[in-house]
Amino acid sequence: MYRSATAISRSFLPRAAYSLSFGSLSSPTLSVSLVRTLSVSASLSTTQHDPSSTPTPSNKTSTMSRWKPMCLYYTHGMCNMMEDPAHLEKFNHSCSEEFRVDVAELNNKRSQEFDFFLVLDLEGKVEILEFPVVLVDAKTLNVVDLFHRFVRPSQMSERRINEYIEGKYGKLGVDRVWHDTAIPFEEVLQNFEDWLTQHRLWGKEQGGHLDRAAFVTCGNWDVKTKIPQQCTVTKMKLPSYFMEWINLKDVYLNFYNRRATGMMTMMRELQLPLLGSHHLGIDDAKNITRVLQRMLADGALIQITARRHSPENVEYLLENRIR
Ligand SMILES: [Zn+2]
Repeated sequence: MYRSATAISRSFLPRAAYSLSFGSLSSPTLSVSLVRTLSVSASLSTTQHDPSSTPTPSNKTSTMSRWKPMCLYYTHGMCNMMEDPAHLEKFNHSCSEEFRVDVAELNNKRSQEFDFFLVLDLEGKVEILEFPVVLVDAKTLNVVDLFHRFVRPSQMSERRINEYIEGKYGKLGVDRVWHDTAIPFEEVLQNFEDWLTQHRLWGKEQGGHLDRAAFVTCGNWDVKTKIPQQCTVTKMKLPSYFMEWINLKDVYLNFYNRRATGMMTMMRELQLPLLGSHHLGIDDAKNITRVLQRMLADGALIQITARRHSPENVEYLLENRIR
């Protein structure tokens, strides 16, 4: 059950620090455990797993001055530089300070149907290239953990992959870490299922549906369109936990009575700082998490907005929605 990242890190990257792999997540103290923080995010690993070329974010507040990009080897259970003070100084290996929420902000919070939210934001137009998920506690607003995998396309030549990754991640400085860590989609989902099981949010024997948790996405594309497409390309069955989801933009529209076309609009309107690199999946997922935290704090009911009855038949549950 815990073979996931441990096995992968060893086979893909022998030099990886196994002690930090996600295989250790069974021990809570080793998980990428996070608390909350109102400001930040971002996650750039650089070409050589070397902090020096990391872009510096603007430091407008004292909270943000503590901001560091996340070590993307670490999110894959593969950081082997945990003993290096210079590396630790430059890269974040825990999100504990990234999602802090002032307790005073929780006054308007209401009870939710779900205990946990899984904020998902896929990257990749042709095939999925990145699969990041942030696990949020609905009661405390804490970010409990995150799951992050770069995904290796299954139907593309090496040359095409190289061009694709250069174009997509080269400018963000994470192409090298992508090549070092990316694994096929089926393995990503196996790792993800192991991770869900460790958090007791899912069990194959329970019918394969999520337990007490729901996906939160910005739009319908991720779960409605892209996951089924990728399953077809990969020639695998669509997992049963991808049958319903929460489109945060629809909840936003119904709660605030304002139409937001995307994450950037929601963040701007809620006056949340955009942190990290837009279109780096893990940073987008973290930024969407900040929107979710704010909406929870403001008292929004975060409910299912779409349900798939068959591949072609998706039912939308809110009358007012972004089309
Ligand atoms: Zn590291």
